[in-house]
Amino acid sequence: MSDRKIASGSAYYLPSPMLLSQNQGEEHVKFIVVSGGVCSSLGKGITTSATGAMLRAAGYRVCSIKIDPYINIDAGLMSPFEHGEVYVLEDGGEADLDLGNYERWLSVHLTRDHNITTGKVYQKLLTKERAGGFLGKTVQLVPHFTNEVVNHIFKICETPMNGTNKRPEICMIELGGTVGDMESQPFVEALRRLRYSILPEDFCLLHTTYLPVFGGTQKTKPTQHSCRALLSLGLQPDFLICRSEQPLAPEVKNKLADQCGVQAKDIIGAPNVPCLYQIPVEFVDQGLIDRIVHKLRLRPSVPPMDVPTYETFKKFTQILQNPANPKVRIAFVGKYVTGGSDAYFSVLQTFEHCQLALGINVEVFYLESEELEGANAEEAKAELRKCDGIFVPGGFGVRGVNGKVIAVELARTHNIPYFGVCLGMQIALIEFARHVLGWTDANSEEFDATSTHQMVRIMDADRDRMGANMHLGARDVHIVEPKSTMSTIYSGAKVVLERHRHRYEVNAKYLEDLRKAGMTISAVSDPGAGDNMRVEAIEQPSLKFFLAVQYHPEFVSTPLDPSPPYLAFFAAAAGKAVNWPAECQSRRLAASQRCE
Ligand code: GLN
Repeated sequence: MSDRKIASGSAYYLPSPMLLSQNQGEEHVKFIVVSGGVCSSLGKGITTSATGAMLRAAGYRVCSIKIDPYINIDAGLMSPFEHGEVYVLEDGGEADLDLGNYERWLSVHLTRDHNITTGKVYQKLLTKERAGGFLGKTVQLVPHFTNEVVNHIFKICETPMNGTNKRPEICMIELGGTVGDMESQPFVEALRRLRYSILPEDFCLLHTTYLPVFGGTQKTKPTQHSCRALLSLGLQPDFLICRSEQPLAPEVKNKLADQCGVQAKDIIGAPNVPCLYQIPVEFVDQGLIDRIVHKLRLRPSVPPMDVPTYETFKKFTQILQNPANPKVRIAFVGKYVTGGSDAYFSVLQTFEHCQLALGINVEVFYLESEELEGANAEEAKAELRKCDGIFVPGGFGVRGVNGKVIAVELARTHNIPYFGVCLGMQIALIEFARHVLGWTDANSEEFDATSTHQMVRIMDADRDRMGANMHLGARDVHIVEPKSTMSTIYSGAKVVLERHRHRYEVNAKYLEDLRKAGMTISAVSDPGAGDNMRVEAIEQPSLKFFLAVQYHPEFVSTPLDPSPPYLAFFAAAAGKAVNWPAECQSRRLAASQRCE
């Protein structure tokens, strides 16, 4: 919206259109910024999601923006080892995993525009500069970069929330990095400018900090310094979220209030908790949500029916803390399973959704797939045989691929329930071709471009540009076999909407051979496309449970609506029955059906 802008060519503000709209009594957006101090990994993402979830449960339309102050345009080409999972949005945006948490907990669909990076802002400014868009002016960090950020945020707030024609009432903004970092400073300045271009009651700042414990005492000094750093950049926190190993001691709270200019009742303790679902409960119990409602003068609203509430999170916490017996042991055969990275964050969240829905106790046995290829392969195989289900997630690159093939072979030959996602489907196909069809050199073009049986081929001709030819985002999946597991778990739906992230696809020229040997192709993305058909799901009906999908069902799984394929896999592993029609919600139906 062109009238909702800070003038980008000038060092001065125009009268704020937000302010003007408020003067006219229009409903206007409230901003909640979450920053972090002292150190990284304090849980800003969870603070944002938990706060947003509780406001959403109270009936407000809440959207959430993540600011990542790195120069990469998006997370698409970043290593999962270093950065954690690349989360895929409906529009194909490849984003930070925090956006996944926002979507799951706030029950919203976000877009690539909800993830702002330094790279994206510069890309936009430089494109405009090269096109002569600044009319000869010097382009500067302040005000051009900062105004671009603020205007982008305003623009998002004008965009209707998907599924409605209404814009958000609350915009959460998580500022990545730690206050004081050089790279986040332009964003802090942008948020300062945002803060002073709107009314005080339309903005609040939650600053997440850490209280280290020495000699049994919680130390406040790092938090004091961090608040001072924030103040020196022009922002005063309204709330402090204090991470600590221990509950926040009253005298520590008073000291922080005294030193940091935040009222004691607005200082919230965030002790370590065994499960993340406890955080929203803590925030409500400590009065944070009430205080935000008060500070932002939020109008009363009507709570929606289909979002997780305080009670839901409380129930989930109780279930996860008192797990059922016996344990269902799931082998997770991947490439990034050691080293505590968040490479499979959405997958593990989905495991938890299934655990909650089925009332089972899931124990994950993590196995680096390379171990199945090495000296200790026999031991690793013996462990796999003890599992109730075997899971192979998505992945890229040749390392560990043969180990994954061994895991699938073991699942097939021992009739252990198998579920594969994306690469996990391609591997299942290679295994079948090698050991059932007898094509010993069967492979994917990604791993061996010289093999005579390319079961999996690259999708487009544009091979050299990384990221250029990826199949990304929400696409229709057509379920073409009425008597398949896919059809059952999606309640007989013919088309469902799921998210994708892959560059290679099943080679359609082998479909007939696969079918003849007992493989069911139960879903495709384009029925009728002949040799150009893209396979979305394969099954082996002669086995107890063997399903593999090309898409990533974990990206649309939520605590209240777990992903059907994952749920089916866990039910099979646990020997449980599931009430499928009740489990399949309309939001997963294809867009055309959703609108009917
Ligand atoms: N590497 C495979 C491909 O690009 C699988 C991708 C994935 O598992 N996300 O098709």
